[in-house]
Amino acid sequence: MTCRLLGLAHRRKRKAQQAKRFGLPNGEPDLLLARVMANGFSKAAIHLNSRGLEQQRFHARAAEATRARFGRRVFLRGVVEPSNFCRENCHYCGMRRDNQSLDRYRARLDELSELLIHHRPTSITDLNIQTGEDPVAVRETVIPLIRRLRDQTPLGISVCLGTLKPEMYDELQAAGATIYIMKFEIADAALYRRLCAPGCLEERLEHIRLLASKGWKVSSGFIAGLPEQSMPELLSNLEVARELPIVGCSVSPFIPGEATPLHDAPTGDVELTLNVMAMLRLMRPDWVIPAVSALNLAGPGSGYQRGLRTGANLVTMNLTPSGIREDYLLYKRDRFIMTEERILSAIEAEKLIPSEQSLSDFYSGNEEKNVSAAALA
Ligand code: SAM
Repeated sequence: MTCRLLGLAHRRKRKAQQAKRFGLPNGEPDLLLARVMANGFSKAAIHLNSRGLEQQRFHARAAEATRARFGRRVFLRGVVEPSNFCRENCHYCGMRRDNQSLDRYRARLDELSELLIHHRPTSITDLNIQTGEDPVAVRETVIPLIRRLRDQTPLGISVCLGTLKPEMYDELQAAGATIYIMKFEIADAALYRRLCAPGCLEERLEHIRLLASKGWKVSSGFIAGLPEQSMPELLSNLEVARELPIVGCSVSPFIPGEATPLHDAPTGDVELTLNVMAMLRLMRPDWVIPAVSALNLAGPGSGYQRGLRTGANLVTMNLTPSGIREDYLLYKRDRFIMTEERILSAIEAEKLIPSEQSLSDFYSGNEEKNVSAAALA
């Protein structure tokens, strides 16, 4: 279907959904936020500008919503990045196809398998396999890697590989992946187009719905603080997220990427990002919301921990071999790499505990079994 037809179909569906605006499926919206939302999302801007003590209270409420639902446990996931080839050309991303200055790589299947099967950190229960949009790497590396991991480890497997042919989603699922991470990136269609985000917005949303209909647990996400992003545009991300059939959502601060058309733009405001995260959490206490490593680039020294203090309940540890990691260039070469040590100390500092249950088991409905009394205390 063309992007225009997809847009029409979706707009019609959205109109119908407006009618039952507060029928939040499975959610228990925070009362104050629900009241704000009843007056329209634009009124929620007061939360975006929250600072100081009022902001601390707002974030604490978001963290409480997480604890009430998930206890003190935080999911721990590793990430590997087997390819930095990308056929997309997003203005904000360092791996965009027009970036000629980047050395492109595809990792060796055997090297990744050895690393993940025999030398992974003991604390992780899940693995996310993320690449630029590169169907060749999916076929040659990702699918065989998933099969090996499925056979030889108990890891829950997530993938974040961009928009692919439906048959490829099926092959990934048959190999053993259960969670698909597909950020919708930018909810405002005009800004999406201007920044050349992948394909078009309606197509991206359509793929998210398709994946969910095929039984994937889908997590999505968006970027906060992009150049030219107005407050209503930022808030529209919450509206779009709320209407998607997803089980989790991330908020990343915009980081001006090396060798991108936006390299001179200001970094997204960490306060704004955390405030949107708090709103997202209060809107959906049942979603898994990650603390993204970019929080430490936008808020050096404290951003990541503040993410946990704002109700995030998933952390990701980078396991890409160091020889190629530098070329997985989302933003800058000096990426803030989340190692096991950094992650465990951030979790401990916030008086949280690593989950022993994998995210994929949690999603498949076994959560009640493993929430210990200690975790809920
Ligand atoms: N290619 C896959 C896809 O399309 O879903 C995998 C993810 S893509 C390589 C990298 C992700 O990093 C994007 O989904 C985007 O949200 C995020 N990202 C890239 N550049 C960014 C930037 N400058 N600031 C914040 N987030 C950025």
